[in-house]
Amino acid sequence: MSKKRMTRQKQAILEELRKTDSHPTADEIYERVRQKLPHISLGTVYRNLETLSKSGLVKKLDIGGPQKRFDGEVESHYHARCLNCDRIDDLFVSTSVSMEDIFRDSCDYQITGHQLVLFGLCPECKKRRNINGTKRIQD
Ligand SMILES: [Zn+2]
Ligand SMILES: [Zn+2]
Repeated sequence: MSKKRMTRQKQAILEELRKTDSHPTADEIYERVRQKLPHISLGTVYRNLETLSKSGLVKKLDIGGPQKRFDGEVESHYHARCLNCDRIDDLFVSTSVSMEDIFRDSCDYQITGHQLVLFGLCPECKKRRNINGTKRIQD
């Protein structure tokens, strides 16, 4: 790939994503980048996020929840999503027992990747639930 010069906008979006692990939505990224580049438009943010994820510099996550989320961490890792507040955390575990190997023999697909999302309650919501007593959160 030719080394195209990165626009200031794209650079700012990438920096925002790399310094957070909150897996923000496009709208949240827009709010943050706007602090630095007040004239940037939401459309530009969306467009740049698309290009960045196509070129593999960020990851677009579609793991449930109302909006797509973006991840500046592109190394392979898993996620946990809180069903109560939609928080998404990174899970770094050894993925040496390859999920893909397990399935490789059982289907005719040429497997190129996989996703695993754990869901439940994040530490904050768990704490709150314990304080509030018996309120149960269900899928
Ligand atoms: Zn939560
Ligand atoms: Zn992540």
